Amino acid sequence: MQAYLVGGAVRDELLGLEVKDRDWVVVGATPKEMLANGFKQVGADFPVFLHPRTREEYALARTERKQGRGYHGFTVYSAPDVTLEQDLRRRDLTINAIAKTEDGDLVDPFHGRDDIKVRKLRHVSEAFSEDPLRILRTARFAARFRPLGFTVCEQTMALMQDMVATGEVDHLVPERVWQEFQRALHEKAPEAFFDVLRDCGALSVLVPEITPPAVFPLAMKALRCVDKQTNTATEERLAALLSPLDESVALERAKALKVPNDCQNLARLVTAFTPEIRSIDPQQPDAGTLLELLDQADLWRRPERFLQLLSVLECALTDESQTIDLLRTASKVATGVDPKALLAKGFKGKELGSAIRTERLKRIGDAIAPINH
Ligand code: ATP
Ligand code: MG
Repeated sequence: MQAYLVGGAVRDELLGLEVKDRDWVVVGATPKEMLANGFKQVGADFPVFLHPRTREEYALARTERKQGRGYHGFTVYSAPDVTLEQDLRRRDLTINAIAKTEDGDLVDPFHGRDDIKVRKLRHVSEAFSEDPLRILRTARFAARFRPLGFTVCEQTMALMQDMVATGEVDHLVPERVWQEFQRALHEKAPEAFFDVLRDCGALSVLVPEITPPAVFPLAMKALRCVDKQTNTATEERLAALLSPLDESVALERAKALKVPNDCQNLARLVTAFTPEIRSIDPQQPDAGTLLELLDQADLWRRPERFLQLLSVLECALTDESQTIDLLRTASKVATGVDPKALLAKGFKGKELGSAIRTERLKRIGDAIAPINH
């Protein structure tokens, strides 16, 4: 039997990038032999094993044949007679289909090295079209490697367009779509993910609301802006993406994508706040209106989420920075009101509630007074 390093590890090493996890493919072995050599079997569907010492993944060479539609419906064939080249042929992109022997020799039947040189994301074979997830993966690699100059090659783009036209993308389950979205939102150039999806037509299936020419650039601008801020979470990135949409549309889409609740909630808040922010005249702010917005965002129980809300709004509504600053100021002074101090003064129950409110209003009023005069 012979083991080869494959996939991301070989690719990243050739690109001079840090290699995170190393995957291996094993040719000429049976599961029995692997187990006899101390490997532990993981994964019920595919013959994948963990190395007894390094814990790295070793998969037996396999071929896959499409049976049904969508991501499911693959027949996996694995046996000692499956060759390295057959295994590499089922992979998505040529840059991911290079193998390396333990001696350091490269096996590259699909010319992945050439594509690394010319910075192309290219499908390995026509079998690419058997799995629509590969469209999302290709878009995600575009998001990761655009800063290095990579683009999707013409033929691959044409193939992806055909796949979308024949309805392949309709069969992706939301969980897989969201998993790829979530990763893509954190890649180096997240907007490249959406460019590729739009160019092949998949975006019209997955997030059709952001595809119109009047909407798409706004979504990308907001996304680029939150991406520039340090440590922005997935919630802020998704909310930026959906920020040009109406509240109900954004919420429906977030639900259809089955995004986590925190992501849904921030997207809903951002889109609900947008018309409210626009309706405020920053030259004549009103303390009551500002306090209502703080209530609506539940600033008191969710202060961190409020900061996320402000940072997305700043990116999505660049013309409203004065109003957003007012909201920030209002939140700072209003959170300074200490319920315990009022409790000590003898306020209780309902009275305590209205004393807190009165004090918050007063502080907001004082803070914005210089603008109103
Ligand atoms: P990363 O750096 O994100 O781990 P990777 O290229 O190693 O990138 P993995 O998801 O770890 O990606 O998959 C390992 C390899 O398996 C890929 O390089 C590719 O060759 C192959 N692969 C994974 N998923 C698919 C797929 N859906 N279709 C075809 N090949 C795939
Ligand atoms: Mg990997």
